[in-house]
Amino acid sequence: MRDQFPIVTGHPGLVYLDSAATAQKPLAVLDAVRHYLTTSNANAGRGSYPWANSTTALVETARERVKRFLGDPEPDRSAVHFTSGTTEGLRTVARDWLPGLLADGDEIVVPFHDHMANLSPWLEVQEVLARQGVRVGVRELPCQEASGDYDPAALARVIGPRTRFVAVTHVHHVYGADMNVHRVREVVGPDVPICLDAAQSVGHLPVSVAGLDVDFVVFSGHKALALPGTGAVWARGRRGPDFRPGGWRGTPNTAGIVSLVAALDWLEAAGTDRIERWTVALMSLLTDGLGRMADTYAVLGCRDSLAAGSGVQRRRSLVTFRHRGIDAHDLGFVLYDHGFMVRSDGHCQAGKREGDGSVRVSLHVHNTPEEVGALLTTLTSLQ
Ligand code: PMP
Repeated sequence: MRDQFPIVTGHPGLVYLDSAATAQKPLAVLDAVRHYLTTSNANAGRGSYPWANSTTALVETARERVKRFLGDPEPDRSAVHFTSGTTEGLRTVARDWLPGLLADGDEIVVPFHDHMANLSPWLEVQEVLARQGVRVGVRELPCQEASGDYDPAALARVIGPRTRFVAVTHVHHVYGADMNVHRVREVVGPDVPICLDAAQSVGHLPVSVAGLDVDFVVFSGHKALALPGTGAVWARGRRGPDFRPGGWRGTPNTAGIVSLVAALDWLEAAGTDRIERWTVALMSLLTDGLGRMADTYAVLGCRDSLAAGSGVQRRRSLVTFRHRGIDAHDLGFVLYDHGFMVRSDGHCQAGKREGDGSVRVSLHVHNTPEEVGALLTTLTSLQ
């Protein structure tokens, strides 16, 4: 599949290892956008000429496409709302939906060491409601020290009769851990809405709303091979084309939505299970290599997954580490000198901010064992 990514094949000396920040786009996505913009570009929901009608239709079809991609078992009882990414998506859930659920004395459970985008919107709702005299308790969603995923036993102590909402992350953007969110549902019971930040999972592994039993799925299209400025919120049990009041609000990112549909088509044809196997296998090569250089490189979070054959889940498609002697920015520059593009320094982490001063390597389907081997050779030379 590598040769379907023109930016990758067009730069043989460079290795893109920053897909968790934004992914490169396969030709099919670029072609779909070009085709749309050169044949039928118009605004949606306005006008009665064919391009306007077909654009309106494509936005509606795209909502159904997202539902199908997420394995929605009841598509006529759910809604999809398009956003610019996960940040806007989580804000949308917080602003348009959460306040209606909360009364004085209720509690929400939210992650304190995941991405800031999955904490600040919930805290803002708490503040806004407090100004209206509605006090909402915020409890921390606890994690297991060694594996980094959510701790069901500790969660059981945090959940109470007043818990009305839980926000979780599917795959951690610093640790690369699968947070095992299906266990969260087992603890909170069937009635508490769960909102899933799927920014690091959609496009990387199969994401099934039925399997995970969540009420909201929020993701970034641009991390799932679509254009920048794309994303979506899937909401269970919310009828209609758009669960925000007012329906069509402003001009949707129609070319972005076209790219999202093309990206989902591409991912489905490629097989998200195959993509997962490929990137997890490459990640094992990388983490095994880093594990052999533990005197020089400290790998963050999800520690158990480093032990080969430990039976503990493997890291997903990203790993974050620190060089014990070289500053993260400098390491980023040095790695680029060798052709590697990685994320360095902060990672927008809420709470603990363990990721500060570290380098993150994230993979996608176009990466190869040779690239990982070359990176390990460079990292070895920096010991
Ligand atoms: N949540 C997670 C887990 C992320 O990794 C990111 C992107 N770094 C976001 C939210 C925010 O995504 P976006 O920048 O597309 O809004």
